[in-house]
Amino acid sequence: MRVAFLGLGDLGILMAGHLVRPPFSLTVWNRTESKSRQFAAEHPVRVSMSPGEAVRDAEVVVTCLPSSAEVEAVLHGEHGMLESLAKGAVLLDCTSGDPATSRSIAAELSTRGVGFIDAPVSGGTTAARGGTLTVMWGGSREDFVRVRPVVEAFGKKIVHAGPVGSGDALKAVNNALLAVHILSTGEGLAILVKAGVDPGVALDVINASSGRSNSSENLIPQRVLTRAFPRTFRLALLDKDIGIAASLAAELGMETPVITLAAKRMHEARAALGEEVDHVEAVKMIEAENGVVIR
Ligand code: NDP
Repeated sequence: MRVAFLGLGDLGILMAGHLVRPPFSLTVWNRTESKSRQFAAEHPVRVSMSPGEAVRDAEVVVTCLPSSAEVEAVLHGEHGMLESLAKGAVLLDCTSGDPATSRSIAAELSTRGVGFIDAPVSGGTTAARGGTLTVMWGGSREDFVRVRPVVEAFGKKIVHAGPVGSGDALKAVNNALLAVHILSTGEGLAILVKAGVDPGVALDVINASSGRSNSSENLIPQRVLTRAFPRTFRLALLDKDIGIAASLAAELGMETPVITLAAKRMHEARAALGEEVDHVEAVKMIEAENGVVIR
């Protein structure tokens, strides 16, 4: 199966690593060419110089880019994919995108006989490395059948969320919950540190109690208490995701003040800490505001 993979970032490079052997024949493109060259030095893949060149013969095109804006850019930009996509091909967009842009891309591609599936993933770099990602996809079953072998190469739990855009919506809300958990657990631990409670002791109790979450069980003990803060998922991308959830709620005319406030706080953390930091580093904003260190 001829596959093109566009976007060898923190996540994409690990997903592409599952497509480097038969039955797949892989072509990669990355904006920063040195990354695709490095990938090709380690795996039997072809490197393309542009999105258009990469997708020319592909049956399945996978994109894993920061947001739907970059998917639009590689589709319509100079040497973009649009004119090169073969009739019958399917664009499998693993970007955590926004539903409206995905729907508009799907509509445009359908006039050319090209399918579209939004297929954001969860599980982070650990699941991407292990080929055990959760994949939430939106689109038609007819299109999905054509990309299934690719999805199964990196996914374990594979769920149809609904029509195009549904995968994006589900992913945005999942990540809104992640942002809420990081911020609320960070604030809670900051209170306890200031009140004189050891945060390790606090987490021991919280994780045996009803306040626990993945943030309290894994992220904060492994990354905050240790002060390791490894970069696995950029805070800027989490800011984007909760922003999509908040915008979706607004478009639907809903009142979601908790998500709206968490989105504002993530945006402030991004402005304060920059584009390159990991998402868990949002806790540093809370620490700085309150003059405490959670360790
Ligand atoms: P990164 O920021 O690490 O990588 C982004 C990729 O997009 C890079 O290949 C980058 O190229 C490329 N890119 C950036 N801007 C442009 C542009 N204007 N035109 C073309 N290419 C561009 O992101 P991740 O790999 O972490 O994430 C990718 C997607 O997956 C995002 O939507 C994210 O929200 C989602 N995701 C990430 C997870 C994670 O744990 N990291 C978990 C689940 C979902 P270059 O190398 O040149 O910078």
